[in-house]
Amino acid sequence: MFEVVIGLEVHIQLNTKTKIFCSCATSFGDKPNTNVCPVCLALPGALPVLNKEAIIKAISFGNAINATIHKRSIFNRKNYFYPDLPKGYQISQFEIPIVENGELYIDFEDGSSKRVGITRAHLEEDAGKNLHDNNFSQVDLNRAGTPLLEIVSEPDIRSSDEAVKYLKKLHSIVRYLDISDANMQEGSFRCDVNVSIRPKGDDKLYTRVEIKNLNSFKFIQKAIEYEVNRQIEAWEDGVYEDEVVQETRLFNIPTGETRSMRGKEDSAEYRYFPDPDLLPVIVSDKMLQDGKNIPELPDQKKDRLVKEYGIKEYDASVITSSVEMANFFEKMIQQGASAKNSVIWLSVELLGRLKGGVGVENSPVNAIKLASLVKRIEDSTISAKAAKEVLDHLMLNDISVDEAIDELGLKQMSDESELIKLVDQILDTNLEKVEEYKNGKDKLFGFFVGQVMKASQGRANPAKVNEILKKRLIG
Ligand code: ADP
Ligand code: MG
Ligand code: ZN
Repeated sequence: MFEVVIGLEVHIQLNTKTKIFCSCATSFGDKPNTNVCPVCLALPGALPVLNKEAIIKAISFGNAINATIHKRSIFNRKNYFYPDLPKGYQISQFEIPIVENGELYIDFEDGSSKRVGITRAHLEEDAGKNLHDNNFSQVDLNRAGTPLLEIVSEPDIRSSDEAVKYLKKLHSIVRYLDISDANMQEGSFRCDVNVSIRPKGDDKLYTRVEIKNLNSFKFIQKAIEYEVNRQIEAWEDGVYEDEVVQETRLFNIPTGETRSMRGKEDSAEYRYFPDPDLLPVIVSDKMLQDGKNIPELPDQKKDRLVKEYGIKEYDASVITSSVEMANFFEKMIQQGASAKNSVIWLSVELLGRLKGGVGVENSPVNAIKLASLVKRIEDSTISAKAAKEVLDHLMLNDISVDEAIDELGLKQMSDESELIKLVDQILDTNLEKVEEYKNGKDKLFGFFVGQVMKASQGRANPAKVNEILKKRLIG
């Protein structure tokens, strides 16, 4: 009945060494107001000088999303007052951004993907940070002047799930490109969400609400879901016009609700005009060339893994969501583990055991060790079930896979004569059931397998047990 329409604006902090218009450091977490100078403090007469590295990083991003790179772009002043903005304006790009008309693909569980248009990506400077105490506020200007790339999507996103998929893809692209650390807790990857609804089939855009400054995928998902429900309810109650107005809303973490913060400014209110202190940016051929020098990106890597190892599209997109994970996977294969098991043991078993945002690159079980574990399943030393216990043990103990198997006594019984002995014991103690089986009660086969497995404490190789039982019972 209703369709959800979402467009996202993402601000990423570029990981240049110095700020965008001065030579102050961009490092995070330093003592307040130590990385500042006349330019980023806006002392009278100080003039900005553009950081070339920021331009090249923006160009690489443009190339990664298949966009148009403008060889000539303009920096504007966006005028507004806020204590964290010492100049009283933010230097940003407006009519001519450096990057325009790009695209990004999001991947679904069934292996399909969908294109999301990227309207533009422009460079701007970050503001400082206001720190609020009970009775007073302070401002830290270390962040003021940090280069930001603002990436604006088309309103092509249709659900909270698609929004999160878009953001994760974008996150992985900027990390692959190494243009940002994209650390959400430290604010290097921040997202504003624009949400509206419309009757299905209608292609007009309805009033949008902007939810500001969301810094976790989970909150973004929740904020969208709350907002969509609020708008649908207003529509159904006949109060849509009154309750859904163009405004900026904030997400309240404890209640999971969004609430109005302020009416949405029109761009005219910012009195944008070209910054007279900065010349138009002219990108040289050398810079264009430098910006073309980009690594294999998630989508290309995904296609390659599908082709080279025959794994499923969606599995490949999970594996390629970070370079570290993709490298881990390829290392397991080099070690001789099969692709199919490497996918499962990396993306399900290992990831499921890594808690608190620990990446695979910091996992206590590295690629070589996880590959040896997989190989021990593949050569029938242990069962897949036992391997889960071994992995639990390896997460806590820095020992080899074989040592862990020994310590836990999980080595699979595959020795033919030993297994025959065990099978015969079970059959001998269940003569009545053997008789019933021979008289046609087929179901009992499973019972015998179960008894043998139990007697071996789960260590008997089930395939072999089946084989031997068949020989004994059917002949
Ligand atoms: P501003 O910078 O003032 O927020 P923009 O025109 O740059 O405005 O749009 C910001 C974002 O809002 C874009 O991502 C765009 O796709 C999205 N958007 C625009 N209209 C709608 C709408 N009706 N519903 C949802 N998203 C929208
Ligand atoms: Mg906006
Ligand atoms: Zn400075």
